[in-house]
Amino acid sequence: MNIQRLVSNMLESNVYIIEKDNKVIIIDCGCELEMVVNAVGSRKVVGIFLTHGHYDHSKYCNQYAEKFNVPIYANKKICETLKDSEAIYSEDGSIINDLKRFKFIENDCTLNIDCFKIECFSCGGHCSCCECYLIDGNLFAGDVLFERSVGRTDLKGSDKSEMYDTLCKLENVNFERVFSGHGEGTSREEQQKNIKVYKRFLTR
Ligand SMILES: [Zn+2]
Repeated sequence: MNIQRLVSNMLESNVYIIEKDNKVIIIDCGCELEMVVNAVGSRKVVGIFLTHGHYDHSKYCNQYAEKFNVPIYANKKICETLKDSEAIYSEDGSIINDLKRFKFIENDCTLNIDCFKIECFSCGGHCSCCECYLIDGNLFAGDVLFERSVGRTDLKGSDKSEMYDTLCKLENVNFERVFSGHGEGTSREEQQKNIKVYKRFLTR
């Protein structure tokens, strides 16, 4: 499996292009379409996944879905975020109303899409609609886990106690590396320390 990281102009959010056998999954949609089309090249896109609804991660989702003709997978609660001009945190009050290309994930589950096995975990706290995806030991964590930090819990849709529960859940997920919504990837060891620190911090 090959993982490529693209960095957007919008709060430097990451888009991941994950490839296996010439098939591609895209995680998050903050980079302009052209940049993603160039990165994908002639490979076949088989699905788009959103880690949560914040605009720096979701802005171009319908453009990607239309271009590559594939569904957008996301936590069911994303509807509340995308249609709420305060919760989506777009720079100009834009919302995303057109959800016909979405396939909603309701419970923790495993999706098999083409050659990819994707384990999905609902991870509220930063935002009620956060979903983390485990693919071959790589956890795509959106704004839940960062290098020496976790996602903000002071935003609309945030919940500190949900973040605590999410950290407890992720502690038990069998990942080797974490790929965050912003910044560089981190190892399991780094995240084990990080999670421990923030579990203490959140219950203070
Ligand atoms: Zn966010």
